Amino acid sequence: MSDRHEGGCLCGAVRYETNGTPKWVAHCHCESCRSNTGCPVTTFVGWQRDNFRYTSGTPQRYVSSPGVYRSFCATCGTPLTYGADRCADEVHVYVATYDRPQDFPATAHVHYAERIPWFDTKDSHNRYRTGSTRGEPMSDEEIAELSKNRD
Ligand SMILES: [Zn+2]
Ligand SMILES: [Zn+2]
Repeated sequence: MSDRHEGGCLCGAVRYETNGTPKWVAHCHCESCRSNTGCPVTTFVGWQRDNFRYTSGTPQRYVSSPGVYRSFCATCGTPLTYGADRCADEVHVYVATYDRPQDFPATAHVHYAERIPWFDTKDSHNRYRTGSTRGEPMSDEEIAELSKNRD
């Protein structure tokens, strides 16, 4: 498998490429990503910014929270990337915009505490309450407790 991957928006006006190995791939369950994509969960490929570049077109940027930027195609509206001042050297690419999303399997869930209660995936990846994967993942008991509170 080549370490160069291409992707882009639905209409094809904006195209990008990434090179190398991503830092991480994770499902994000936060409300903000949900609103941005219209989907119950969003999967990101996290890159060092140097490994990402646009090859055609220029996306628009929407500031979704202070210091948080989401790029999208101005013609078709496809969300493409997430960036934030707190991790300015990274760019997070929406995995479904890749030509070959199958090459980037997710290995963790973040912001799991914000998930839609009826949405779950059958996998054994760690589930983190917030956006950080550095702390301890949630225990089975915590996950069960969360479902109780949200129902
Ligand atoms: Zn487009
Ligand atoms: Zn999110």
